[in-house]
Amino acid sequence: MECISCRHPFGDQKPAASISGSIMGDENTDCLYLCPVCATYTIVSWYDNFTGGDETMSVSGPKSKEEGDRLVALIKRCDNPWDKKCRCAAHVEYFRGQLD
Ligand SMILES: [Zn+2]
Ligand SMILES: [Zn+2]
Repeated sequence: MECISCRHPFGDQKPAASISGSIMGDENTDCLYLCPVCATYTIVSWYDNFTGGDETMSVSGPKSKEEGDRLVALIKRCDNPWDKKCRCAAHVEYFRGQLD
């Protein structure tokens, strides 16, 4: 994994926040990494496809620190962000109503 903006490798750096949700039966996990070099966020999304059993990954960003910080704060409002079945306000807002 590396910064989408400056290609700084994240190595074993932990994401600033991560959140899981289930969308049309597929598990979707977003990990938000804050780059220590250029201070932007790179978002790594994992999709676990229940029918095919394939896990795919996509990388998006960069997001400005302001925008990323807002998402991290949103995710931290949930006590169980890794719980894809959670339907709290933070989960619903993060996935913008796409949850099952
Ligand atoms: Zn960077
Ligand atoms: Zn939640």
